[in-house]
Amino acid sequence: MKTYKQNPDFLYLGGKLLAWYEINGRDLPFRKTRNPYFIWICEIIFQQTRISQGLDHYHRFVQRFPDVKSLAESDQDEVLLYWKGLGYYSRAINLHKAARQIVDEFNGVFPKDHRDILKLKGVGKYTAAAVVSICYGEKIPAVDGNFYRVLSRVFADDFDTASPKAFSYFSELALRMMPDENPGSFNEAVMDLGSEVCKPRNPECGICPLQQDCLAFALGKTADFPVKSRKVKVSALELNYYFVHHQKEFLIRRRGDDFIWKNLYDFPDAVPPEWLHADTPVITIKHKLTHRNLTIYIHDIELDDVIDFQNFATIEGFSTATLESSHRKSFPKPLENYLQQVFI
Ligand code: SF4
Repeated sequence: MKTYKQNPDFLYLGGKLLAWYEINGRDLPFRKTRNPYFIWICEIIFQQTRISQGLDHYHRFVQRFPDVKSLAESDQDEVLLYWKGLGYYSRAINLHKAARQIVDEFNGVFPKDHRDILKLKGVGKYTAAAVVSICYGEKIPAVDGNFYRVLSRVFADDFDTASPKAFSYFSELALRMMPDENPGSFNEAVMDLGSEVCKPRNPECGICPLQQDCLAFALGKTADFPVKSRKVKVSALELNYYFVHHQKEFLIRRRGDDFIWKNLYDFPDAVPPEWLHADTPVITIKHKLTHRNLTIYIHDIELDDVIDFQNFATIEGFSTATLESSHRKSFPKPLENYLQQVFI
C-alpha cells in the first residue's frame, strides 16, 4: 500500500534537498576531493562506523596508503593494523584485495565505469553509486539506510525495507528526485539529512527542509517508518580459547578465511587434556556480532616447561608473541580487550 500525496513533485523535493545541503552539508575532509580512491576508502570506512568515530582512522589510513599502488604493495598485516579499532575487518581485507585487483586488471588506475567498479572486491551497489555520482557526476542514487528512512517517511511509504526488492524500489524513487546537475551532492544531501536530521529515533522535524512535504510528519507517524519486517536471525555460539603462556610469551595463530574472524590472530582453541586442571583459571566474555551472540571462555594455561611450550607451538603451527609485540597484530575485539588486562 502506498500513501503518496497525489503526484508529488519529485524534482522539487530533490531541489529543496540540494539547496539545504549547500548551506547545511557537513564540512568533511573527503568532501573536498573528487579522487575516487579517497571516496572509495571513506565510503567503506563510514558504511559501518560513525563519522565522528572513524575520522581519525580515515586520516591515518590515507596518510599511510595515499593511493592504490601503496595499498596494493603493502602487507595485509599492516593494512589490518591501520584498520584496528574500526571492526568488521573483512572490509580492510577486501580493500587490500581490491587495490591489487586494480593494479592487475586496470593498470593501477581506479576504474571509471560503474560496472567495472562493481567488480572490485567488497564493492556493492551503494559504494559504486557513491563513487560514480560524486567523482564522475553520474546520475545513480547511492541508496542506503538513510535513503530508506528519509524516502519512506517523506512519502509515508510502507514498502518493506527488509525486502530483497527494497534497493531497486527506493533507487527508482530516488532517481525521480535526483537532479541532472550535482547528483553526487544529492546523494550526500540524503546521507546528511538521514544522519543529522531524519535520524532513526526522534527525527528533528523542526529543522527539516522537507517538513512541509513530509507525509509521515503530517500524519504524526514518523515513528512508523521505515517499515522493516524481517528481523536478523541471531544465534548463540560458544568458543573456548586457551591463553597458553610461558614466562613473557604466549601462543597465537592467524585464522584463515573460514572462521568468523577472518585473517585475525587468536589463541589455541584446544590443548592437551593433561594441561587442564580443576583449578585452571577461566574468564567468560560476552560479545555480540551482527548474527551471533558469542560466549567466549578463555582458559589461562601457564606452562613452566619451555620444551612443552615450544613443542606444542611447532607441532600445532602456532607462533609466539609478547604482550608488547601483540599490539602490532590485529586480534578480534574481545581478545584484544583480554590482552589489555592480562598480566604475564
Ligand atoms: S519531516 Fe521529520 S520525518 Fe519527515 S523527512 Fe523531515 S525529519 Fe524526516
